[in-house]
Amino acid sequence: MLAANPLCEADVTQEVLKVLISEADIQARVAELARQISKDYENSGELVMVGVLKGAFIFLADLSRQLTIPRVIEFIAVSSYGRGSRSSGAVRLVMDVRGNIEGKHVLIVEDIVDTGHTLEYLIGMINSHGPAVKTCALVRKADCAEVHVDLDYLGFDIPNEWVVGYGLDYAEKNRTLPYIGIITPAD
Ligand code: 5GP
Repeated sequence: MLAANPLCEADVTQEVLKVLISEADIQARVAELARQISKDYENSGELVMVGVLKGAFIFLADLSRQLTIPRVIEFIAVSSYGRGSRSSGAVRLVMDVRGNIEGKHVLIVEDIVDTGHTLEYLIGMINSHGPAVKTCALVRKADCAEVHVDLDYLGFDIPNEWVVGYGLDYAEKNRTLPYIGIITPAD
């Protein structure tokens, strides 16, 4: 078991086989992304950060707290995968943003881009409100892309493995691990 932090052990269902991205590397990259985003939006007024539930909640929390520009937080929830790692097919909107995003600068904050269908759906949906939309993802499985989506900010490219931690789950567990690790789903 690689969950070094005893506070996290109660959230671990299955042995994390390998640490793929360490806590230190994640924190360093999040700081870099925050610097870049702050610079890019320096004179753009308020940025609406739309976190994609549930997986992006930790990334969004860390990223948003390091920005030096005015920002507000919104959440959106979609369903594309069922319990565990099995895909449930089409992307479905579960919860829309609550605030008014008409004409605003919006940054979609995603945990992971796999096939790209979820992000493609979200970009289309948010674009229909007419704002200037950009995208930010913590990790991307580059080899798994089925549709092309423009990513403006990316933390890491990763191999085609099931990853957990730093917000990412396996069957709702392992989200609070401070690092990103690889597990082999049982189903
Ligand atoms: P996509 O639509 O790009 O295929 O998938 C995006 C969604 O699939 C993510 O938001 C996430 O919920 C789920 N997903 C894809 N790969 C992984 C993975 O390795 N680990 C976890 N925890 N979720 C994943």
